[in-house]
Parts: sequence; structure tokens; C-alpha cells
Amino acid sequence: MTSAASLAQIAEEVSVCTKCPLHHSRRRAVPGEGPANAEIMFIGEGPGFHENEQGRPFVGAAGQFLDQLLAQAGLKRADVWITNVVKCRPPANRDPLPDEVETCTSNYLERQIRLVNPQIIVTLGRISMGKYVSGAKISAIHGQMRRLGDRHVIAMFHPAAALHQASLKPAVTADFAKLPELLKQARAARARAAGSNESSGSSQDDPRQLDLF
Ligand code: URA
Ligand code: SF4
Repeated sequence: MTSAASLAQIAEEVSVCTKCPLHHSRRRAVPGEGPANAEIMFIGEGPGFHENEQGRPFVGAAGQFLDQLLAQAGLKRADVWITNVVKCRPPANRDPLPDEVETCTSNYLERQIRLVNPQIIVTLGRISMGKYVSGAKISAIHGQMRRLGDRHVIAMFHPAAALHQASLKPAVTADFAKLPELLKQARAARARAAGSNESSGSSQDDPRQLDLF
């Protein structure tokens, strides 16, 4: 099965999932979308009102701001993968609970990440950051790229936070503007890692190789 077909299958599973209580408050599940070979994956928190109506991620006010930020950074929405840590809308837009995040990410997001195999994961907001960068304060580390296995992760403020708190806007804009340069660095690091695996004749420490078996 191709990655695109596997991603479509995950979307089907998500649409009828009842593994956590959030299925009670969903109208449409929001599995996420993007090209199967995207180099950047954005991970938000969870669907809001408009996402729940349309079944697509980041289509409300925060999504329009995300589109602007991408365009300013010279990136097209069609080139990136966009999803959330939970795929169903929490009631009254409350934060998803740790159990809900764990259930949903272990069943769906982790598989999506393996299939898309992005160079860079961009976490949007505190909750999604908590999954990939432990014990950090977003105000201290936003915009910094860190290694995460054979990929990289960059924590950013949630676009909705910047909409509600104008003082965050310059930081969010500056962090997005750095993405093309950080992508070049991430690509170079992965190419170096692939090269050193080849020359040593060992594939054991390349997680992508392990996924094949
Ligand atoms: N906020 C999120 O975190 N995700 C969405 O999909 C929309 C708004
Ligand atoms: Fe299933 Fe995730 Fe929806 Fe919970 S949030 S019901 S785990 S798809």
C-alpha cells in the first residue's frame, strides 16, 4: 500500500473512532491533510467549531492566520501536512485531556508521522509541544529547532494565541519566516546521517529502515 493510501485508511478509521470520549462532541472528525511526502508537518491542538463542521484542519480564524504566515514564509499550504493531536472537537473548545491526547496520538498521529516521514515537525501551541519537547516553556524555546530522532522539531506559539494576544504576533511571524532556512538545515542533517549509514554499512540506527520490517 502507498503512504497516501495508508493515510487515507487512517482518515477512515478516525471518522468512526470511539476510542476516547471526544467522539461524543464531534460532528465531523478532522484527521488532517496534506501531501504524503510533505517535508513539514504542523501539529495543532484539536478541531474548533469550523473544523468540526468541515472535517478539515485550521479552516477558521486561526487557519486563515496560518495561511498568511505560510505565505509570508514562501510556503504553500498545499505543500505541508496539517493536523492536530486530537482529531475530534473537545466540548466547548476545552483543552484536550492528557488521556485523550495519549489515546489519539498513539492510535493515529504517530502512524501519520511515520507515513509522511517529515523532516520537520512544527508544534503549534503548548499541548502539542508537550508531546514532543518535554519540560520546556514555549516562551523560552519557540522558533528553535531541535533534533528528534532522525527528524527535527520546532515549537511555535499557536496562531490563535497570537490572534488573541497581539504582542505575540511579531514572534510568530519571525518564527515562520525562519522555516525555509531551517528546512535546508534539516535536509542537510538527514542527508549526512544517510551518508554515514551507507559508508559504515550499517542501517541499524536509522529508524526509517526499521519501519520496513
Ligand atoms: N486550532 C487548532 O489547534 N487546530 C485546528 O485545526 C484549528 C484551530
Ligand atoms: Fe478517536 Fe482521537 Fe476522536 Fe478520541 S479524538 S474519538 S481517539 S479520533
